[in-house]
Amino acid sequence: MKEVIIATTNAGKVREFQEAFSDIGIRILTMPKEVIEGEPVENADTFQGNAEIKVCFYGKQLHLPVLADDSGLTVEALNGAPGVHSARFAGAHATDEDNNKKLVEELRKRGLSASPAAYRCVLAYREPDGTILFAEGSCVGEVRTTARGSGGFGYDPYFYLSDGRSMAALTLEEKETVSHRGSAIRLLKEKLQQ
Ligand code: IMP
Repeated sequence: MKEVIIATTNAGKVREFQEAFSDIGIRILTMPKEVIEGEPVENADTFQGNAEIKVCFYGKQLHLPVLADDSGLTVEALNGAPGVHSARFAGAHATDEDNNKKLVEELRKRGLSASPAAYRCVLAYREPDGTILFAEGSCVGEVRTTARGSGGFGYDPYFYLSDGRSMAALTLEEKETVSHRGSAIRLLKEKLQQ
């Protein structure tokens, strides 16, 4: 079985990737933090740029296949914000609650109760020889100033699909079938099997 290091410390994402790649003979391993020096500076202004920064940073130190993802929310009424700054929308150490509060405030400031929006995810997979494969996925919907549902994470309670369900109201399996990360994972699996 091929072993690939996943460049995230998010336990939820690790489980998601382990589950997703097991059927194509890929074992996803967590990052051996004790042998990594420093941390990547994710200062690109695109999801792809930041995914590439992460996968190169870890791949060059580990000399092993590495998988990284970068994702976020883009809101039309906010000119695409928070975008690559989704995790830190309300500040450097912002919690999901802080970020959601800011999202609602920014919409209200503009006299809006909703705006078209999309989640986006770019996966980067790097071989030790420096070859990189990218796969992108998106999920279109709208953000609203009212929350619904208790599942998911991040902006999910404020992100609604076209059928009116909030992302936080979906089961994990349902979310995987419609989510930006689910689509990107399916595309990367196809590319890896070619
Ligand atoms: P990262 O790719 O782990 O850096 O995630 C960036 C940020 O985007 C997260 O902290 C969340 O705020 C947001 N985000 C990414 N994917 C999702 C999702 O599936 N649901 C809700 N928020 C998300």
